[in-house]
Amino acid sequence: MLQENIKVLREKIEKAAFKSNRSLKDVKLLAVTKNVGVDFVREAVALGITEIGENRIQEARSKFSSLKDLDLKWHMVGHLQTNKVKYAVELFDYLHSLDSLKLAYKIEDCLFKHNKIMNVFIEINTSGEDSKFGIESVQVINMVNEIFKLPHLNLMGFMTVAPIVENIEDVRPYFRKLKILSERLGEKFNRKFHLSMGMSDDFEIAVEEGADLIRIGSAIFKEKL
Ligand SMILES: *Cc1c(COP(=O)(O)O)cnc(C)c1O
Repeated sequence: MLQENIKVLREKIEKAAFKSNRSLKDVKLLAVTKNVGVDFVREAVALGITEIGENRIQEARSKFSSLKDLDLKWHMVGHLQTNKVKYAVELFDYLHSLDSLKLAYKIEDCLFKHNKIMNVFIEINTSGEDSKFGIESVQVINMVNEIFKLPHLNLMGFMTVAPIVENIEDVRPYFRKLKILSERLGEKFNRKFHLSMGMSDDFEIAVEEGADLIRIGSAIFKEKL
């Protein structure tokens, strides 16, 4: 079943990428394995998955130790509390949810001690909902400036979680907003930023709007959850 899910997913990604003049290989697929057992993670890896996303430190730690033999990149996609930073730094290669400078400074200290680099995305609350993590777009220039001063943080770009909507087309403005923001900042800072946006329900729109990396859980593992 995983095989069929991943095949269908790749076809949909390819179609959506084509609409934004790109191809399948331009969009990185991150398999979000929260609540998924390690046997199914192994099955997904056998089918070509190399990027694993988790949203809780404790679950990620236990999975990580069971899957140490595999050559995987680990992505933290959930909110990270400052008291869990030391575990996150040990486990993860990427953090998609950098949402405060306080967190950035804490991670930098910890990375310095471990002599490690972390790839980070700044999470932007594009919808402005109180229930969402992420910074407001007006704060982002200052945040980027500060992060550039931290030598162990490699700023990849920006991440957003779209709001839950009735009509899926209604997410499009939020993804477009992140794309425009990223292009503006790209010009200002003279570099290319990447976009982490799109989940199982809305990845096609995210890819059409320029997502470089999509975070997919249920569309891959639905029967296993
Ligand atoms: C769970 C989760 C995902 C994947 O969600 P699905 O709808 O299952 O694809 C993506 N991003 C974040 C931040 C998540 O917590």
